[in-house]
Amino acid sequence: MADSATETAPEIRPIVPHLKLGETRDQDRLFGSRCSNCNTLYVGPRLFCGKCSGQGPFTEEILSTEGEVWVYSIIHQATPYVKAPYIAAVVDLPEGVSVNTNIVDIEPEPENIKFGMKVRMYTEEVSEDKEGNKYVAYKFCPA
Ligand SMILES: [Zn+2]
Repeated sequence: MADSATETAPEIRPIVPHLKLGETRDQDRLFGSRCSNCNTLYVGPRLFCGKCSGQGPFTEEILSTEGEVWVYSIIHQATPYVKAPYIAAVVDLPEGVSVNTNIVDIEPEPENIKFGMKVRMYTEEVSEDKEGNKYVAYKFCPA
């Protein structure tokens, strides 16, 4: 990072710490941390292991871009950058971890969402701050 006296060029940043940005948006990936002591996998960076109480060390692991929806809610209250109604969901990934996300590209109606529905991750820029930094979020859509 440049020091504060230097004008810094705007950056593209992930909106959450468990998203790693690639050169292009289709190379963006969620990642996890696996405890080398007990092999437990967590979403995102990790300092301590909740299972073995150790400090790892943790190895970084890229997570799948496809998963299944078993838990969701249709939200009718708008939040910044998200138009209501929308689908908030927990997506189970094949690695055995889950991520909170929004399901997009389908009408947010219960009849459109099936338990165990296969979904695929993608990312896009969702906001920009006063300095011109852009923020990238991940979402899931039907696979
Ligand atoms: Zn552990």
